[in-house]
Amino acid sequence: MNTPFTSSDFEFDARHIWHPYSTTNSNVELFAVESAEGVRLKLSDGREVIDGMSSWWSMVHGYNHPEMNKALKDQIDRMSHVMFGGLTHKPAVELARRLIDLTPDSMQTVFFSDSGSVAVEVAIKMAMQYWQCRGETGKTKMLTFKGGYYGDTTGGMSICDPENGMHHHFTGILPEHYFVERPACKWGDEFEEAYIEPFKQQLEALSGQVAAVIVEPIVQGAGGMYFFSPEFLKRVKELCDEHGVLLIHDEIATGFGRTGKMFACEHAGIEPDIMCVGKALTGGYMSMAATLCTAHVSDTISAKEPMMHGPTFMANPLTCAAGVASLEILGRGDWQHQVANIEEILQDQLSTCLELDIVQEVRVLGGIGVVELKEPVVMSEIQSEFPKEGVWVRPFGKLVYVMPPYVISDEDLKFLCQGIYKVLDRMYGNN
Ligand SMILES: *Cc1c(COP(=O)(O)O)cnc(C)c1O
Repeated sequence: MNTPFTSSDFEFDARHIWHPYSTTNSNVELFAVESAEGVRLKLSDGREVIDGMSSWWSMVHGYNHPEMNKALKDQIDRMSHVMFGGLTHKPAVELARRLIDLTPDSMQTVFFSDSGSVAVEVAIKMAMQYWQCRGETGKTKMLTFKGGYYGDTTGGMSICDPENGMHHHFTGILPEHYFVERPACKWGDEFEEAYIEPFKQQLEALSGQVAAVIVEPIVQGAGGMYFFSPEFLKRVKELCDEHGVLLIHDEIATGFGRTGKMFACEHAGIEPDIMCVGKALTGGYMSMAATLCTAHVSDTISAKEPMMHGPTFMANPLTCAAGVASLEILGRGDWQHQVANIEEILQDQLSTCLELDIVQEVRVLGGIGVVELKEPVVMSEIQSEFPKEGVWVRPFGKLVYVMPPYVISDEDLKFLCQGIYKVLDRMYGNN
């Protein structure tokens, strides 16, 4: 696999390989990456681009990180994989120990899985089994907010935004759950009790049927890059407790420092009953996710029955070793000033995009910068423009957004922001 990427590789790819949410006859240009280092992707055409996406939130320490590489090489020489049924190993125990240390105090039990979507499936099953074990068999529904994204498997899809998600492709197959309007109290808005009223009413009406409320705390990610008030989240927690409903936090995108706190729920000072993490868990090196829960939840289920899930590659040792190495790096705490610095630069640099008529709003939180346009981009036109400016950005809909690796330098980050401005100016300039 050390041979260069050729035009026949591109042809083969176009004909035979699906990419995320793509057709096999897509007219959006595809780029091949030969290697990557730090915040830079080296493309097969010789260009280098600065990665604004952290490979979808995950590559927080940058590519080809010596310490990460070493941890994986060391683990490969011991064992890459062993089943988790009836067996255990040091990398799994060490990763679970660190996760329990890092997450809110009440998170005490870890379920490892392969991807974020599966972690959400596990969270849903956990919530349902919890109520069954308590003899409350009527509690089988989820209540969530519109505008969410929870993954691509049936359980996850069924709670994704009902209009812009995938519901209409799979009507009749997806379980039906309950939705309430997305939190209208944005990040930075002063909270008033009226904001929580729609949620409160739904919860009151439905609490007998609802196993859990599931929410992406503070940042709705792939459903619209929308930031909402910590006070709102706090009220959600209080109301769940009041009505005897479990609270699930999906921190798959927000976890591990991205919003400026280790976990987004810390902005609100609350703790969920069940929590999903993924994406940056292994520093972007391997596919892994986890569902954590309180001792009360795991004890309640375990007193009656097994937790009914068990992936073949559960707690894969190589993957766990990547997780341990990534959490070791995070544990040193540099991420805190790195993310704060990214936030400051994104605020300053992206605000120049407001000069462009096409731009509706610029919003920044922690290491996330969003330029919302007044109309959706045309991917076949805009995608190739970013590498021309030496940056890698992948917009969706009206959103041009970045969440760069934490290790990005000030200079590279400014270059990234300027690249976005130049592309938008060239494509949608005011004159
Ligand atoms: C990405 C994401 C998922 C799904 O994770 P995969 O690893 O892609 O399956 C679920 N929830 C949130 C909030 C996400 O950002």
